[in-house]
Amino acid sequence: MINEEIIKDLVCPIGKFPLKSDGEFLVCTNCSAKFPVKENIPLLLIDDAILPIGVNSPDELKCCKKKS
Ligand SMILES: [Zn+2]
Repeated sequence: MINEEIIKDLVCPIGKFPLKSDGEFLVCTNCSAKFPVKENIPLLLIDDAILPIGVNSPDELKCCKKKS
């Protein structure tokens, strides 16, 4: 289990939204992308992220869609 104190300082690498702990993963509270945690080290990389159902590429993530 990853330390909650550490999670508080982490954000989604795409949209900079807070993350929440979900078992072996950290999940973005905005786009729902899941980031694996290996040996207590969160892998906050888009390439390692598990995309939510219905999202086929990182470009489709809510965090990637920018409103101008
Ligand atoms: Zn996100």
